[in-house]
Amino acid sequence: MARDDLQTAPVNGAARSSGAVIAAEHGTRSSAIAGAEPGAGARGAAQAAAGRWLHHHVLDLDDFSRDEIEYVLETTDAMREVLARDVPRVPALRGTTVATLFYEASTRTRASFELAGKVLGADVINVSASGSSVEKGESLVDTVRTLRAIGVNILVMRHKSSGAPYLAAAHTDAAVLNGGDGWHAHPTQALLDLYTMQSRLGSLRGRRVAIVGDIAHSRVARSDIWGLSVMGAEVVLCAPPTLLPAGLGRRVQTEQEEVALPGVTIEPQIERALRGADVVMTLRLQHERMHSGLLPSLREYSRRYGITSERVALAAPHALVMHPGPMNEGVEIAPDVARSVQSVIEEQVTNGVAVRMALLYLIGRGA
Ligand code: ASP
Ligand code: ASP
Repeated sequence: MARDDLQTAPVNGAARSSGAVIAAEHGTRSSAIAGAEPGAGARGAAQAAAGRWLHHHVLDLDDFSRDEIEYVLETTDAMREVLARDVPRVPALRGTTVATLFYEASTRTRASFELAGKVLGADVINVSASGSSVEKGESLVDTVRTLRAIGVNILVMRHKSSGAPYLAAAHTDAAVLNGGDGWHAHPTQALLDLYTMQSRLGSLRGRRVAIVGDIAHSRVARSDIWGLSVMGAEVVLCAPPTLLPAGLGRRVQTEQEEVALPGVTIEPQIERALRGADVVMTLRLQHERMHSGLLPSLREYSRRYGITSERVALAAPHALVMHPGPMNEGVEIAPDVARSVQSVIEEQVTNGVAVRMALLYLIGRGA
C-alpha cells in the first residue's frame, strides 16, 4: 500500500483516505466506510498491495524483508490517519475476533492491541493467565485450541518463555501475533520503534542507533536489531559484558541451532557508543529476568551506563532518545532526559496503537 494508493479514492476528505484501501480490499464492507463502492483504481492498487504481505503469523522480524517492513510502516501511516478522525472507527475487521492471551504483565502492549482491534471494528476478548483455566493447569496448547474453538481468528500472545508463540502457532490455524516471548522477541515493539525513528529521521539507511543497557535480557533489543539491520541502520550496542548476549555478531551458530543475531558493533565505552548517534535507545534493567551477581550495584550501573544530558550531548544534535518502557528513572535514564525535547518516549507509546492496527489489519485480511 504505497502512500499514493491511499489517495486513489478519497473518502470524505484526506483524513479518510486510508479507508479507500481498506474499503477496496473489503468488498461490501467498503460501503460502510465509503458510502459507495470503491473505484477500480483503488481496487487494483489494493490487489497489487496484497502481494506485499505473505505472513500468516508475526512471531519476530527475523523473517521480514525490507519491503515487508516498509509495507507495515506505510500501513501504519494510514492507520494514524484513521486515529486522527473525530470518530476513529472503521469496520475493516468487523466479524474478526481477536484474543489477547497474556501470561505476563503488560500495560502498553495489551492496552494498545485492545484499542487497535476495537478501532478496526474487531471483537476483542482479553484472557489473562490469572482468573482463567490457565490457573487450573490448562496447557498452553489446550488454551489456544479452546480459543480457536470459540471462534478466535487472531491470537495476540505474551509469555515468559521464549518460543511459546511458536508452539501456539504450530497448534492452531488462528493467526498468532507475538506480544513478547521471554528474552526472545517483541516484534510489535520493534516495528513501533522503527516507525517512530523513520517518521522523525526519514530513511534509516546508514543511521547510527546506539542501544544501551540490559541487552542480554531484552526481547526488544533482539527484535530491534533484526529490524534495524534489515532497514540498513548501523547498530551499536553498549552494555556491561554480563548484560550482553553470548554469540553476538556470529551469523550462524550450528546447523541445528537458529540463526544468531545479525552483525552489530559492540562498544563498551558509553561515550564512544553515543558519539554521533542518530538515536540513543536505552533499555530497562530487567530485574525479574536477572540472576544475582550480574551487576556490582545499581548506582555503579547508573554511573557508567545511565543516559544523562551530558551524554546525550555527544550524540548528533537531532538525536532521538528512546525507551520501550516501563522506565526506571534515575537508573538507566535521568528524569530530565526522559522529558527532554529530544525524547520520543511518549510518541513510541502512541505509535504503538497505529502499528498494532496495521498488523491486525494486514493479518486479518487473510486470517
Ligand atoms: N512491559 C511494558 C508494559 O507492561 C510494555 C509492554 O507491554 O510491552 O507496559
Ligand atoms: N516493554 C518491554 C517488554 O515487554 C520492555 C520492558 O519490559 O522492559 O519487553
